[in-house]
Amino acid sequence: MLTNRVSIYFVFFLAIGAGVSRGDINLCRCVDSKSACWPSPEDWDAFNVTVCGRLILPKPTGSPCHGPHRSATLCQHIRNNWFDAYLRADNAGSMQSENWEDDGQKSCSMYAPESSVCHQGRVPLYGVQVATTRDVQSAVKFAARHKLRVVVKTSGHDFLGRSSAAGSFLIWMHKWKNITIDESFVSCGGERGNPVVKVDGGVAWGEVYDALKGTGWIVLGGMSLTVSATGGFIQGGGHGALGPSFGLGADNVLQMEVVTADGEFRVVNACHDPELFFSLRGGGGGTFGVVVSVTYKLHKNPSNIVGAFLLLSPSNGTSWSVETQEEILTVWSRGTVSLDAALWAGYWGFSSVQFVGELVVPATLAAANATLTPIVRALTQIENVTATYYVMRNHSTFQDWHAADYEVIYPGTLTDYTGHRVLLGSRIIPFSALKHPRRLAKSIVAAMALGGNGAVLGHMVIGPGVRAADPHRQTSVTTAWREGIWHLASWSTWEWNATEVTKLAARNNMKGFVKSLHSAFPNAGAYLNEASIDEPQWQRSFWGYSNYRRLMAVKLRVDPLGLFVCRKCVGSELWKEDGNCNRHY
Ligand SMILES: Cc1cc2nc3c(=O)[nH]c(=O)nc-3n(C[C@H](O)[C@H](O)[C@H](O)COP(=O)(O)OP(=O)(O)OC[C@H]3O[C@@H](n4cnc5c(N)ncnc54)[C@H](O)[C@@H]3O)c2cc1C
Repeated sequence: MLTNRVSIYFVFFLAIGAGVSRGDINLCRCVDSKSACWPSPEDWDAFNVTVCGRLILPKPTGSPCHGPHRSATLCQHIRNNWFDAYLRADNAGSMQSENWEDDGQKSCSMYAPESSVCHQGRVPLYGVQVATTRDVQSAVKFAARHKLRVVVKTSGHDFLGRSSAAGSFLIWMHKWKNITIDESFVSCGGERGNPVVKVDGGVAWGEVYDALKGTGWIVLGGMSLTVSATGGFIQGGGHGALGPSFGLGADNVLQMEVVTADGEFRVVNACHDPELFFSLRGGGGGTFGVVVSVTYKLHKNPSNIVGAFLLLSPSNGTSWSVETQEEILTVWSRGTVSLDAALWAGYWGFSSVQFVGELVVPATLAAANATLTPIVRALTQIENVTATYYVMRNHSTFQDWHAADYEVIYPGTLTDYTGHRVLLGSRIIPFSALKHPRRLAKSIVAAMALGGNGAVLGHMVIGPGVRAADPHRQTSVTTAWREGIWHLASWSTWEWNATEVTKLAARNNMKGFVKSLHSAFPNAGAYLNEASIDEPQWQRSFWGYSNYRRLMAVKLRVDPLGLFVCRKCVGSELWKEDGNCNRHY
């Protein structure tokens, strides 16, 4: 097993093998706008001409509430919509998890007194709101020439802070939108008649779903409407509620277009640069270049879709004992074997005070009832467990279920609820764990007690579809997906004015949660997009070492000088913790 130390040597030797000279790899990025390395005003002006005036100065979300340019109206708008994912996606400087705008104690919260300084924190200093491939090429070449620290951002949803960095230069994809439905796409191997949707720039999943309404087609996308269809989701693998039927997002891609660190535009697919195609389907966002389009397979909308919503509560109105929690999860794990076979998908949340399931299955109402209701009955036979709410409904399309589900979980707003300071931890639970349901239940309850906020979110997004997809391993996601049953996550949060001690405690909570599941399932992997920032042996967890070697070789070929560096991303061990100087500097 490779330790972190060994892996640094391993990537160093790969770097030498890739023809990167020692001189080349002594490198620091220019992150101080007052230093001599920073582009001059004339440089910025000349660059701005090449991007048709689309140079921008990103600002933190809370900036209208502070300083000399404070605007009472704008500030009120920000306050009213602080937790609205659309507001954050629409602002170049906003991150969906507010902590990734902070740089230590330097922040710009709407809660802080108006007289307090609004710190730029990790929000990039300059950026380009790109609208074309040519803009992206100009931005990449300019950043490389001036040794800037590049970040690529589309929605800002990244949970590990990979789309922001102090002193950085932003390539902002979000406003560039184009969606093309093509029912007769010809694959690179000459196969005709593939129905596809091609998404360009910064298209979000909600926009793709809207475009597909009424066409009879569906696509494997994310649950969140604001997560982008071209960025971190797909490059990290991408899971969705259609996974048990159609696999991961990465299993559904036929072609991608990307601008690499040399500014070249490349079309990659199974025939053209298959190793880069492999890397872009699971190797992680912000690593191999700027993806400017993704072509996804379309599927026929199933003729029957049933959604179910389940809420279990303690009958005594207080909470469940540890024994009851274990019993609930034991019954649920046992039932999961048949739910999985029947292609049930969705999400379940569990804590000592409730069990919530928002579930969906491509089946008739009768078939859905026959598979789910006996399990609900078994759950409610446990002492002190009451089904407060249990409904099952037919939907004419998958999109209808999605919209109905959003009405239940985000009533009135229909937007993802973001804007908190949050860290995640997660594990892909192996299917084999279902052989010992009580042991599995005990492991989850033990992990909940050790870390996080005492709750877990189970993603039922794997099923037969993900396990059977990609038999020839043409995507770079961890094989844990191919052997998994649930993606299980927890989270820690803290307030804007928390001390460093409180923040560290929140971080340690997540470490505890991950460590506990890691020791219960030592060979399981983790989803790199929803992982802990302290994920141990992350190369192994996110990809497995054999995939990692291939990914590293591609990284060094297409980005030998590390223009794209992010936290726990391929090749990041060559760089210091903040990603600004490489480790040989
Ligand atoms: C509310 C919420 C719901 C979520 N739901 C799901 C879900 O249902 N399924 C799922 O799989 N995940 C889900 N996620 C996780 C999500 O997939 C990741 O946060 C993902 O990284 C978001 O990608 P993005 O491009 O939208 O975000 P960003 O923060 O903009 O980018 C994420 C990463 O991708 C890079 N990147 C962005 N655009 C590009 C590009 N064009 N080219 C190259 N690199 C790029 C960034 O540099 C960064 O490293 C959810 C997250 C949140 C916060």
